[in-house]
Amino acid sequence: MYKKGLILKFPPKVVTEPVVCNLAKKYDITFNILKATITPGKEGIMVLELEGTQASLKKGLEYLKEVGVEIVPLEQKVVKNEEKCIHCGVCTAVCPTGALYIERPSFEVKFDPQKCSACEYCISVCTTKAMEISIKNGEELSLGV
Ligand code: SF4
Ligand code: SF4
Repeated sequence: MYKKGLILKFPPKVVTEPVVCNLAKKYDITFNILKATITPGKEGIMVLELEGTQASLKKGLEYLKEVGVEIVPLEQKVVKNEEKCIHCGVCTAVCPTGALYIERPSFEVKFDPQKCSACEYCISVCTTKAMEISIKNGEELSLGV
């Protein structure tokens, strides 16, 4: 499963429509609302974490654009959960930047966040879900509307 952190800007004409509920119903995407400012007749802004398959997220984002919602990606980065990592090395084979590598002689898998491009390839291959997306907390965002 993939996660995306987004700021959605709803134009006045769609602000009262069940656009976000449709994401769950039509595209099997789960969502977590971090912050929302919705006023009927005015522009609405919502900060969301969406979770779904790569294909369902792609279709869901296309749907949002079709109905006129402006999408701004939230700052997000890939992190390694050391407690979940079993050092199998699978992720090092798909990491294009060398951010994940096998250290010798310990043969432990290390993560260098400075080299990470956030391509998310490691997330799809890691069976223990040790590679995760960390999304900037919506509470930190200022949503001046
Ligand atoms: S694929 Fe996952 S468990 Fe295996 S080394 Fe990479 S982060 Fe650790
Ligand atoms: S997100 Fe991409 S660049 Fe970053 S560690 Fe994973 S595979 Fe490597």
